[in-house]
Amino acid sequence: MRFPLALTVKIARHIVKHKLAKTPKFAMVLQLEPLHTCNLTCTGCGRIREYSTNLKDMVPLEQCLAAAQDCDAPMVSVCGGEPLIYPKIEELVAGLRAQGRIIYICTNGVFMRKKMRDYMAANFSPAMEPQLQKLVAENLVTEKESNQIRNADEAARKKVTISPSKWHYWNVHVDGLEHTHDLIVEREGVFKECVAAIKMAKILGYQCATNTTVYRETDVQEIEDMFKYLSSLDVDGHTISPGYDYDAAKKDMVKRLGRDPKEFFLTRDMTRAKFAKIEQWGKAFTIFGTPVYQEFLAGKRELTCTAWAIPTYNVKGWKAPCYLMTDGHYPTYGEMLGKVNWEKYGVVNGVARDPRCEHCMVHCGYDPSGALSNKPRDTWINMRYNFGAKPKAYPASIELEKRAFNGVTIGKGHLAQAKAAINPAANARGAFSRKEVEDHTHAPAPAATGGACGTGDTSQRDDLLAKIKANGTVTTKAE
Ligand code: SF4
Ligand code: SF4
Repeated sequence: MRFPLALTVKIARHIVKHKLAKTPKFAMVLQLEPLHTCNLTCTGCGRIREYSTNLKDMVPLEQCLAAAQDCDAPMVSVCGGEPLIYPKIEELVAGLRAQGRIIYICTNGVFMRKKMRDYMAANFSPAMEPQLQKLVAENLVTEKESNQIRNADEAARKKVTISPSKWHYWNVHVDGLEHTHDLIVEREGVFKECVAAIKMAKILGYQCATNTTVYRETDVQEIEDMFKYLSSLDVDGHTISPGYDYDAAKKDMVKRLGRDPKEFFLTRDMTRAKFAKIEQWGKAFTIFGTPVYQEFLAGKRELTCTAWAIPTYNVKGWKAPCYLMTDGHYPTYGEMLGKVNWEKYGVVNGVARDPRCEHCMVHCGYDPSGALSNKPRDTWINMRYNFGAKPKAYPASIELEKRAFNGVTIGKGHLAQAKAAINPAANARGAFSRKEVEDHTHAPAPAATGGACGTGDTSQRDDLLAKIKANGTVTTKAE
């Protein structure tokens, strides 16, 4: 099965319960943003621009748990900001598990190994020694850290930690292979850290998924290579969604860059071209997301937006109408459902009800439309997909590893490169230049910083890439 049986049954029960009760609108996945603070400043992130990133602006733990009960979604995606910065993240995961929910922690991966060391320290016993030695042998834990785990003090042993569970997934933000990903997150070494965290998670028995946003300039072949590589690491599943220049991002673009957002739209046609092979990918890799949504992405059908099924809760309340656009915040999920005129949003028969929705095909608006479809044929293909055999892990190879670790930026990201592009004489080497990676042992990067959501503002990246291209400063090994 692509998705574990117990989890499938839980979700199916939830849908059946609401269909029998004829509930017109109900939540499938809660996007819970306990804070918007992040240790990264990805060029594609509207979240850190739309909301305060001050650590004092957090949703208290009890309020997070109450929000989950309020909408009663069977799945909760804990995102942000970087959720591993949330001081009560362990208690939040424990509280959501106590409520019986399926939990995805959407993280940039940078603090994952620290959290897993905490788990080992709290639970260490001689039975864990072989795993610990393996982690040391693979450079995923240092000798010093391994001794700290073995000799944890009482406080470390009493700490609430995030332990492996079939109800919980790490959901690591990976937007491409090393060069692209580090460019997007604007920090060298983050891809390497993500890979180290995924390897450690798999050794310890965690479930680990990845989430990828496809941007206007994303190379489709690279996405396929990325899936092959992640599959070779035994990643349990992948979420993939087109990036979209949602409202806050567009405003930022006009205000800060003085550019017309229309020049940078990821249009529906462009999205469909990028996702033309999604159904093939769904056969070869464990893509999370219904086959109905995959057909939609591939341009084979239309769907109606069901943004109410993946509501977002954050420090301001229930965000309407969707994860991307903000027309208001409401104190309860029920009030949001009742007061928002949902007929104003989405695209119906190719006509956008709201011009801001025109090119949107994102996961949080349309994947639930696939899962909730009443057509018998859709139910059948969804079931067949989910109960079908899980695709085998892609064979690991040195060649694949080399393709994944395809060079790193010089670590200063897009903005530095833009300056270099604008003033090449002052910057002989651009941030997009790849330095050759001679050491392919991929010892994990030193503890870096994290982030996780990659939702769609392509404006800065597109703008900077255009400048860089115009100035001819991109150099790669292949060139
Ligand atoms: S189509 Fe739906 S998910 Fe997309 S921007 Fe509009 S309301 Fe939001
Ligand atoms: S990691 Fe996520 S929250 Fe942090 S800056 Fe990047 S996209 Fe935004």
